[in-house]
Amino acid sequence: MNYYSSQISKLIEELSRLPGIGTKTAQRLAFHIINMPMEQVESLSSAILEAKKNIRYCKECLTITDSELCPICASPARNKRLIMVVETPRDLAAYEKTGKYDGVYHVLHGAISPMLGIGPADIKLKELMLRLQQDVDEVIIATNSSLEGEATAMYLSKLIKPAGIKVSRIASGIPVGGDLEYIDEVTLLRALEGRVEL
Ligand code: ZN
Repeated sequence: MNYYSSQISKLIEELSRLPGIGTKTAQRLAFHIINMPMEQVESLSSAILEAKKNIRYCKECLTITDSELCPICASPARNKRLIMVVETPRDLAAYEKTGKYDGVYHVLHGAISPMLGIGPADIKLKELMLRLQQDVDEVIIATNSSLEGEATAMYLSKLIKPAGIKVSRIASGIPVGGDLEYIDEVTLLRALEGRVEL
């Protein structure tokens, strides 16, 4: 990497820290950026900075947003009595892409994993229980079908059911260990429609 000036090397190094970006890709991106018009580079770097500075958790569902409430929670068209629990904002995005779900979400920001030492207090569970003190008809648990996702689903259902709220789990058929965001919309819809009460 010493063939390049130290500034280019620095850019390559920073880019290669991003997930899924190896050294080769980082080099390609770095040279692409250098050849971009100045306005485009400025627009890219300010988009990164602004996103990082203004990002926060939605007051209701805890997804990542740039205002107090995310657009989903702020929408009067959404059914606030139906809450789908997901692990990450990316899972939320995957379900939103289907365009067929009219409830709201709750983002846990993780899953319970005894192996990694992640317990119930390390994910946004307390916040969910607070939300459930309002009128809620059903909680749909849409955590991943990984070991951690299943453990979280089980824990959640035990916690919520005594409150007399209907708890359901999205249907299996989603490949085990499969990240929700990589599953196509038809499969997601089928999993949602075929959900079973726990
Ligand atoms: Zn929200």
